[in-house]
Amino acid sequence: MSRTGIFGGSFDPVHLGHTGIARAAADAAALDEVLFVPAGISPFKAARGARAPGRDRLEMVRLACACDARFVPCDIELRRGGVSWTVDTVREIAASRPGDSLHFIMGEDSLPSLGAWREAQALFRMVEFLVLERPGCACAVAPQGARVTRFRGNPAAVSSTEIRRRAAAGMDLSGLVAPEVAAYIAARGLYAAGG
Ligand code: ATP
Repeated sequence: MSRTGIFGGSFDPVHLGHTGIARAAADAAALDEVLFVPAGISPFKAARGARAPGRDRLEMVRLACACDARFVPCDIELRRGGVSWTVDTVREIAASRPGDSLHFIMGEDSLPSLGAWREAQALFRMVEFLVLERPGCACAVAPQGARVTRFRGNPAAVSSTEIRRRAAAGMDLSGLVAPEVAAYIAARGLYAAGG
């Protein structure tokens, strides 16, 4: 029986903000491990799709996970393909880990929409939500039925969008992504202008 964190995202690419929030959540909630789950197709980004193929996003997650022994790459959404619904992912994880307590990590920006997620009430029964509290941010209200625990952290102010923009401009990515991830992006020519 383990305390398992689930951290989903496009991870296009995974960056130091992601590893920062995962580490802060793992520390705050005494998680034994954090599963990093790259989305097949994010329900929120389906219109534009991912910029890098799933296998590259997963490989970058693998490289980034080396920074903390609790971090584990998880390819279930990529294997399943199509739009990634969190409730399906959590069901699959719960079935493969009976007895584990499941904790879904997310930024406060996602909290207001949570009640509209697919099969929200079923999801709320399976996981506790660990929500990163932003200093100075008006706290969003948790939807009815959701178990929410807030934690503090100071993750890097960085986004995948900014990293893709910098990579396309041939700019240095150090301080934004792990060095191994920066090397992978360069070697594979990911996010190159016109790519
Ligand atoms: P994009 O710029 O492409 O929209 P992103 O940087 O927001 O991407 P996602 O993969 O969409 O990255 O994020 C996955 C999760 O990580 C979301 O819950 C998001 O709130 C959180 N997150 C993203 N960037 C940060 C950050 N710098 N600090 C803390 N949490 C973050």
